[in-house]
Amino acid sequence: MLQLAPLIDIPFDRRHCCWFCGEPSDQQWSYLKETYTPHPSLTVPCCKECLKLAKQHKLTSIWDCKMAVKDELMRIYEKHLAIGVNWTKQELEESEFEDKVFGGFKKSGWMMYEIARDRVNYSGWPLSLNGVVIDDYGYDASFSFDGVNYRSVSQAIAFYAKQFTLDKRFLEDVIAIVGKDRFGFAIRIAQINIAAVPELKKQVLNELREEHQD
Ligand SMILES: [Zn+2]
Repeated sequence: MLQLAPLIDIPFDRRHCCWFCGEPSDQQWSYLKETYTPHPSLTVPCCKECLKLAKQHKLTSIWDCKMAVKDELMRIYEKHLAIGVNWTKQELEESEFEDKVFGGFKKSGWMMYEIARDRVNYSGWPLSLNGVVIDDYGYDASFSFDGVNYRSVSQAIAFYAKQFTLDKRFLEDVIAIVGKDRFGFAIRIAQINIAAVPELKKQVLNELREEHQD
């Protein structure tokens, strides 16, 4: 496995766990530091699904990235999570679903709900490299811009991308480079390049990265 940054310390009882969701991990993902990233480059163990999601939502820190992975898991497993909202375990067991039609749902429905719930709720473990704790400075996921408070920076990105029909992925990539403190600037970049072809967007990102290097 290609490891581009040091692997975080992994507690013995979590040695097979995805750092994002707690599912069995068979992958690793390296978060490479940009100028504004408040922590060193590092590698975390993860499952295949979280690896894919994390790559798409790097944002400005591993903690923001984790929030975005959770948001995506909630979106992907919305139907599974709804089972727990609409039913209690007992109701589901006692329901009069015809066994032939809904039997499978009765048996697996609650389990699917529990798995999705536990993945979304999983809090990982504090990050450290070679025994040195990486301070998250009491990381607070909430983010405010233009007088509005958002649950997370990824929620704010999703909102703006929808309002202005912007390329969400591109906006995220810009924010990963310039930092969430320059959210307004990132939105302008996304607006200016709204009709740009992928190659041009890539070029814009490269130029931004050059400008923002130490
Ligand atoms: Zn995972």
